[in-house]
Amino acid sequence: LRWDEKAQLQLTNLSKIYETGRGISEVNLELQGFQKVALVGSSGSGKSTLLAMLAGFMVPSSGEIKINQQKLETLTDEKYRQSVQFIPQKTYIFSGTFRENLAFYEPTATDEAIIQAVELAGLTSLLEEIGLDGQIGASGRTISGGQAQRVALARAFLSRSRNILLLDEPTAHLDIETELEIKANILPLLENKLVFIATHRLHWLSSMDKVIVLNEGKVEGVGSHEEL
Ligand code: ATP
Ligand code: MG
Repeated sequence: LRWDEKAQLQLTNLSKIYETGRGISEVNLELQGFQKVALVGSSGSGKSTLLAMLAGFMVPSSGEIKINQQKLETLTDEKYRQSVQFIPQKTYIFSGTFRENLAFYEPTATDEAIIQAVELAGLTSLLEEIGLDGQIGASGRTISGGQAQRVALARAFLSRSRNILLLDEPTAHLDIETELEIKANILPLLENKLVFIATHRLHWLSSMDKVIVLNEGKVEGVGSHEEL
């Protein structure tokens, strides 16, 4: 699956209701082409739930997601997963080398490409400290929440050929200075892609084409940054 200017995404009455009765309900949305969409709304409003469904990681309770008129479930896992780069809210760091963690989605990446991604994600000094072959995770060196988030961003920089990009609070664990530095590297990565960013950081909105406001699992508003 190659997302292009003509590609269409359609969410129809999309719902995911957890056992608690919470989740998202009856989301309707149609998009075409290279759109950059921000998902905003208070904690618990359903941003991560929506992203997990778009990533194909969670099955809707009802309703459907269609890409080019085809139901998401019917696209083979491999075909879809190879087009999507999903950065979840919590970064999964496993026990292994720094290189293995960075190249998790792109195991054939060259050291040169990995080092470039490390630089864009602001991890150069950590790399100098532990090296690509250093162990991190449970049986190696523990890294901070902000460093883990930058590992997630480095993974996204390495997977730049994937043209559906789903970022769940990609800069939430960074201090504002680091955040703005790395944001300048992230913005070019968003071009010519379908992008969804869930965020509480409102400075992202002016870089997005569309803003979707969620409230208690429902879409409360859709519009451009200026309109809302
Ligand atoms: P935040 O800004 O805190 O990340 P969010 O907008 O991403 O919040 P979600 O994580 O999508 O919100 O949660 C939406 C609702 O669904 C919340 O009420 C949450 O408690 C509930 N929820 C999320 N994940 C689960 C789960 N795995 N099991 C049960 N309920 C869940
Ligand atoms: Mg969330």
